Parts: sequence; C-alpha cells; structure tokens
Amino acid sequence: MKNGVVIVGAGHAGVQAAASLREEGYDGPVILVGDENELPYHKPPLSKTFIKDQQAKPQPLRGEAFYTGSAIDFRPGIRVERIDVGGRRLEISGGGVLPFDRLILATGARPRLLPLPGSELSGVVSLRSLGDARLIRELSAQSEEVVILGGGFIGLEIAATLTAAGRKVTVVEAVDRLLGRAVAPVIAGHVRQRLEATGVRILTGTTIERLEDENGRVSAAITSSGERLPAQMVVIGIGVVPNVELAEAAGIAIGNGIRVDQQMRTSVPEILAIGDAASYRHWFTGGDVRLESVQNATDQARLAARTIVGHTDNYSAVPWFWSDIGDMKLQMVGLIAGGDSHVVLGDVVENKFSIYHYAGSRLLGIESVNRPGDHMLGRKMLGAGFSPSPQIVATGPDGLKAALAAFQQAEPARAAG
Ligand code: FAD
Repeated sequence: MKNGVVIVGAGHAGVQAAASLREEGYDGPVILVGDENELPYHKPPLSKTFIKDQQAKPQPLRGEAFYTGSAIDFRPGIRVERIDVGGRRLEISGGGVLPFDRLILATGARPRLLPLPGSELSGVVSLRSLGDARLIRELSAQSEEVVILGGGFIGLEIAATLTAAGRKVTVVEAVDRLLGRAVAPVIAGHVRQRLEATGVRILTGTTIERLEDENGRVSAAITSSGERLPAQMVVIGIGVVPNVELAEAAGIAIGNGIRVDQQMRTSVPEILAIGDAASYRHWFTGGDVRLESVQNATDQARLAARTIVGHTDNYSAVPWFWSDIGDMKLQMVGLIAGGDSHVVLGDVVENKFSIYHYAGSRLLGIESVNRPGDHMLGRKMLGAGFSPSPQIVATGPDGLKAALAAFQQAEPARAAG
C-alpha cells in the first residue's frame, strides 16, 4: 500500500490508531491529520483541573518524539474538506490533496449549540477543545458568577471545578434530574446533594430563555421561571453532535454517527470510523450505540488497526467510563439501560458505594462512587462473561473475587479470551 493509511482527526481515537498500526506491525506510511494546532492532548483533565489552575499545562497524549520515532507523519492545523471516495484522496485546507489506500475517520464530536437569544455574546462558551478550555480559564478569572446550562457530566465537572476555585456557580438543567439517563437515579440524587453542599446552586426542570448583555459581554441569564441569574460567563454543556458531515458528503452511511460494522468498517470498506463519531451495533446490548468515552475511542482505534493489517476479530471491549465531580470519583462499567433491579454495596452516606444493575439474572453493569476496587473487579467480571448472582454480590469484594476465580477455573478458555 504505497499511499498508506490516512487518519483524519488527532484526538484520543486518531492518535491511538496511529500508534496501534505500528504496534500491529504495519510498515506503510501513516499520516495523521488534525485541524487543531496542538500536540494531541488528553481531554478529560480540561474540565477537572485545567480550567481552575492558570499555570496548568495540557497533558499530551504522546510526547513529540513519539511521532517521529514511530514514523507517524503528524500534520496539525490541517482540515480535511472532502473525501473523493473513487479517487481515494482527500482534499485538504489550503488546496492540497492527500491520497490514501485506507482511511480512518476519527473526527470526534462538537458541542451541541442552542438557538438562545444572546448565545453569540462574548462570555458564552462551551468546552470541547484545549482552545475552549483556555478561553474558559481566561474568562473565569474575570467572572464571579457563572451559569452552566446542562447538568450532564461535563457541566457538573465544570461546576465542581469552578466552585472549588471560588466562583458562584448555578447549574440550570431542563429535565427534573441530573446526568440524564446516564446513571441510576440514586447516583444522580447523591451527586446533586454533594454538589449543593459545596455551594453549587442547581435548578432542575428549568431552562434559560435568554441572555442579557452589558457592552457585548454576557451579564445575566433569564430562566424559564423569570429569575435573573447574574453571570459574567455562561457555559453551554448540553451534549455533543458527532462530526459526520465529511463522511455524509462522501455518501457513507450515517445513523446517529458514522455507521460501522464489528471491525470498524464503514459502508465503504476501505474507510473505517472510530471514537465519538462512530455508531455501531453493540455486542453487549444488541442495540445501536454511539459511545463518548476515552475507553471506546482507544479500543476502537486498536481494533481498526488490527482490521487494516488483516485480522477479523469483532469489537467486544467492555465499555467503561469515569468522571470526577468534586469529591466523587464516578466509575461505570457495562451498559445499564434496561436494568430492572439492583444491589448496593458500601455506604451512600460515606460517599463510597457501588450499584450492581441487573436485567433478570444478568449483571448489566456497575456504577461506583469512590470504590475503584469494585470498578476494576467489575471490568474483569464483565470481560470474562461472568454474571454473579445478587446473593454473591452481597458477600462483598472478597466473595466476588472468589466466585470469579471459580468461574474462570471452570471456564478457562472463555476467561483467557
Ligand atoms: P476527539 O477527541 O474529539 O478528536 C477528534 C479530533 O478530530 C478533534 O481534534 C477535531 O478537531 C478533529 N477533526 C474533526 N473534523 C476534522 C477534519 N475534517 N479535519 C481534521 N481534523 C478534524 N471521557 C471519559 O471516558 N472520561 C472522562 O472523564 C471524560 N472527560 C471529558 C472531559 C471533557 C472536557 C471532554 C470534552 C470530553 C471528555 N471525555 C471523557 C470524552 C472523551 O474525551 C471523548 O470520548 C474522546 O475525546 C473521543 O475521542 P475522539 O478521538 O473520537 O474525538
């Protein structure tokens, strides 16, 4: 393959795909094109630590030497404008073309916008990139009061971080609970209670109708109940939309993301898609999903590289996710939608507990708050295909470890997979 593999998007998925191609022994050209003018960086710290510390530096995904040392041709600051599927080449910003033998689309997602009167004002921001985080950090230094629109993971992480940095923060969430359907109600209620205890004001069942300004800079948010919330910064955190336009314009199949099969191939087999931009039929639930997590981006990237070098294994990684909200380390493993019962281990009041979710007798997933051991064990159990009964869960971590070991001994072949 003389033109090699071109990867579009130098985020978590794109960088891992480049690295994995080399790890899998691919020795053709690997070209990594990204439209940001940065050394690729970790996104999770942006909302957790970076925005409160004026001195904090971005954390690179890999050091600069990695790209040259692995013969990865990293090209920052270049936007891919069009895919010429038949001609197997890309049109890039500045007018150039880039031929490819195989193409990996790792274009990620972008913040969902809100048609809100005043959303164009200075001081109204959202957080996806390092550039956004730098702006938030700068604006936050000039803001005493902050309104965050959206009570999802990123909105709540920012709320906790800025409150710890001394800002007066109000979170406005349209539905009647936090964190949407991503977590169980008991976790959502717990997070709310602890955030409120630190001084975050949370308004659920409320929206923002419009933003007011003073000399072009936002000065207040007016809620659906008519309350005026003074704010020198408004953060819009109402989720993301996948970057599918490039693929869509090329005629590639789309459905809440770029559709891929179990080997990450799109409807055009020499073009693969991975990470936040990709949607697929999930092996665990049987439903169509598009997951937004570092784990998903990284594992799909590894699999895409294996597909390119000729392996045919299917995507079967156990999904997991984490979020740090104030003094709560939330960790989730599995997918809990469709659960009909649960078992709790630990102590909610002590801020250390895990919820084991079941559909019938099948363990779907575990949500943990400050119980990392439960999370790690959960990853092992679900990875091994082991579904302990609620009675075994109730025996605690030692009982679970013993039951997993017995299961693996009885089914060594499965455990090894
Ligand atoms: P991205 O990392 O978004 O990378 C896509 C890249 O492609 C971007 O640089 C984009 O600019 C570029 N691009 C798009 N179109 C083009 C084009 N046409 N030409 C060139 N380049 C293009 N996940 C967790 O699991 N745990 C967490 O705690 C967590 N915290 C997060 C906190 C924040 C603030 C954010 C924003 C995300 C967080 N996530 C977290 C989610 C996680 O970062 C994403 O799931 C992950 O970044 C997805 O990787 P990706 O490579 O698919 O997309």
